[in-house]
Amino acid sequence: MDLTFNEKENAFRQECRSWLEANVPKEPLQSGDTGEGFAQHVEWEKKLFAAGLAVVSWPKEYGGREATLMEWLIFEEEYYRAGAPSRVTQNGIFLMAPTLFEYGTDAQKQRYLKKMAGAEELWAQGWSEPNAGSDLASVKSTATRDDERGGWLLNGQKTWCTRGSFSDIIFGLFRTDPELARHKGLTYFIVPLTSEGITLRGVDRLDGDEGFAEVFLDNVFVPDDHIIGEVDRGWYVAMATTSSERGLSLRSPGRFMATATKLINLYKRYREDATPALRDQVVQAWMDADAYRLYTFQTVTKMLGGGSIGAESSLNKIFWSEMDVKTHETGLDLLAELGELEPEAPDAQDHGSWMKGYQFALAGPIYAGTNEIQRNVVAERVLGLPRK
Ligand SMILES: Cc1cc2nc3c(=O)[nH]c(=O)nc-3n(C[C@H](O)[C@H](O)[C@H](O)COP(=O)(O)OP(=O)(O)OC[C@H]3O[C@@H](n4cnc5c(N)ncnc54)[C@H](O)[C@@H]3O)c2cc1C
Repeated sequence: MDLTFNEKENAFRQECRSWLEANVPKEPLQSGDTGEGFAQHVEWEKKLFAAGLAVVSWPKEYGGREATLMEWLIFEEEYYRAGAPSRVTQNGIFLMAPTLFEYGTDAQKQRYLKKMAGAEELWAQGWSEPNAGSDLASVKSTATRDDERGGWLLNGQKTWCTRGSFSDIIFGLFRTDPELARHKGLTYFIVPLTSEGITLRGVDRLDGDEGFAEVFLDNVFVPDDHIIGEVDRGWYVAMATTSSERGLSLRSPGRFMATATKLINLYKRYREDATPALRDQVVQAWMDADAYRLYTFQTVTKMLGGGSIGAESSLNKIFWSEMDVKTHETGLDLLAELGELEPEAPDAQDHGSWMKGYQFALAGPIYAGTNEIQRNVVAERVLGLPRK
């Protein structure tokens, strides 16, 4: 693992830094999990795309600039360092795009990728169902063949679709063959949310934002070219998406380094009231973020050498999600009663982001596959332990 950056990488960092310093909104945008805030975030995404910074590692034909994985990490460090808005395109660019690059046809790539990168079409993940969360293979929503129209009729219900109420398209698994073993009869579909037969119902979150949606599908027709990969082989396509979600792409270290640095600054403001134990928590939070950063560089080095992440992404997922909770808890401990103030309150520190960040961090051990399930994966597939 080489931690020295070359001339090209340093120039790229400088370019990102200058653009972000000049363009990141001075006041934070409203939450991207509300209708109004989402619209503000989409405008920001369009600006980022116009500057060639929305999807730096993608091929040029889809709006990227063919940056290396290392340069992407640099971009992420600069992005979070600058306090830039959270990415409402993430379900598309970090989850769907890797799947399309690996399994999509040329026509699908042409049709979807550039619009996804330019925030012209916003994507939601439609995997979970009321009885299929951790056990994703027990998905009950169905797709039935419609030979006459050359496509499929979708029926069922998806739940917990992040920002589903504001999105244009979902991707998800549907049962195409109930006779086959659970994992084998599933197919991966792209479903426009404007299709006839779709009903969306918003679900409020703990923090009051209305970002979640339940999606009901009642005889929704989609043509054959809305399938990714092969019929009945959707499970294997879906597994490509999960390792992106748990692994590198969704949670680059830049994000956690930025929070850890913010925590150090908070400590400097409140250190007179802080106990030695609290000081140790601050130090630990920073060391954890740095350890995660170094681990990521090691992973990237491995990938650049032709390796892949695979089941190790579960280790990553447990680490970043638990670290995020601990870092925010420490921030709230430092702030004591001030931590409970709403962002609008005159005395709220760091725009009230510690409580909001804490509430979101609590969901980290649940989404992208719960940590209990990740521990099962680590035990069985990384350590090779028996199932029982
Ligand atoms: C903030 C947030 C955003 C989300 N966004 C999306 C989204 O955009 N799209 C989407 O499709 N879904 C989304 N989800 C849903 C998420 O993927 C599920 O909540 C998750 O997979 C867990 O499923 P479940 O809620 O049905 O819980 P269950 O699967 O019912 O699990 C309940 C508990 O039992 C434990 N458990 C279950 N099975 C086992 C086992 N074999 N061994 C040990 N423990 C077990 C689980 O770990 C958990 O603690 C989101 C969730 C959150 C919190």
